[in-house]
Amino acid sequence: MTPTATAPLQTMTAAPTVPPLPMTPTAMPASSPTAASTPTALPPIAATAIPTLVAPVTPTVVAPPTPSPVTAFVSKEFPASLEWVDTARLDTLLPAVYTTPHLSIHYLPGSGAERTVGVFADDAEAAIVHIQTSLGVQLSAREDIYLAYTFFPPPDSGVKGYTLSGDHAILLMYDGSGTRDERQYMVAHELTHQIAHDGIGTAASVMLSEGLAMDMEQRYMLRNGDVSLDGFARAVLDDGSYIPITALSNGNVGFLGQLFYRRPYDEAGSFVHYLIITYGVARFKRVYTTDDYVDTYGATLFDLQSAWEQYLRSARVQSPLAPPGPAYLQDIKAVQAGYADLFNALINGRQVTTDTYRALDDARIAADRADHVTVAAQLPRFEQALQQASL
Ligand SMILES: [Zn+2]
Repeated sequence: MTPTATAPLQTMTAAPTVPPLPMTPTAMPASSPTAASTPTALPPIAATAIPTLVAPVTPTVVAPPTPSPVTAFVSKEFPASLEWVDTARLDTLLPAVYTTPHLSIHYLPGSGAERTVGVFADDAEAAIVHIQTSLGVQLSAREDIYLAYTFFPPPDSGVKGYTLSGDHAILLMYDGSGTRDERQYMVAHELTHQIAHDGIGTAASVMLSEGLAMDMEQRYMLRNGDVSLDGFARAVLDDGSYIPITALSNGNVGFLGQLFYRRPYDEAGSFVHYLIITYGVARFKRVYTTDDYVDTYGATLFDLQSAWEQYLRSARVQSPLAPPGPAYLQDIKAVQAGYADLFNALINGRQVTTDTYRALDDARIAADRADHVTVAAQLPRFEQALQQASL
């Protein structure tokens, strides 16, 4: 799903490979605040609670937020569409609050989040400084951040972050996977959506919105050892799977979630990075709300795209890492397919263990770092364990 210009900005949405779902947001009712809830053993939500979406896809097992064997990750605690989330209900579901000068971070007491929330809060505050300094704009109100302890339910299982700009609220999938630097870039991405909304205005295209968020998070991606946005863009340019920026800009290509569909995000991030380092932030802020490239840059988007392609192929690309090897994109795609397999297994009621999930997470981390050796070891381990996962 792609946000409209007027909707709250959002990061990622549907997992395209999960079984077909009714995905039009207009078909979905607002979340029901009725189901009572302890976050651990939850009964399936009644079909009446979220009628149009839950019935065909709801798995029957819900993960406990504990490090013990995990049976499934899809939580029904969160409503069918993140766009319709009821933050008052989240306040109840995630009753503990860690506060910082800018943030109220909500989490589940006793969950893994409790052990890491202090470090995460410091990292999020540092990201705010980075974004505000880089863009010369300010967060205009306190931000609520909700740390969800499992995957979001379909169709948003691939979502790791979601910003409700109008509510000053961010939802993050925060289940203990990934690295500290990844958690920082996730929150930096979402905070960029919020700060840009507050200080620049409504993005004129999703490409510009997502590209800016990717550019702002890149500092932490690189700290994590990931291939740069330029490195990714150059790889897809070289192998022919590149999506023209003009197609990303005109809404013909959706931003469907980084876990499953990386190219739009990384390409947009590289392109926005190029615009900012070449022409400066002030002009970028102008095009951000107008989409008028000719007025802002004296060049069409197509011409700017051509210049960016030349930049990618030239020595001006200063990736701090070696250019990704030939296996890089294949590994990224294989990991994306692994997540599709995981969600399909969960939807079919298979009992997936924490170890199995960790193997996929390790493969994902390695793929982003162009560490083919680790991907080649962990991904088959994951797929084999998934095959053996019992119903
Ligand atoms: Zn985003």
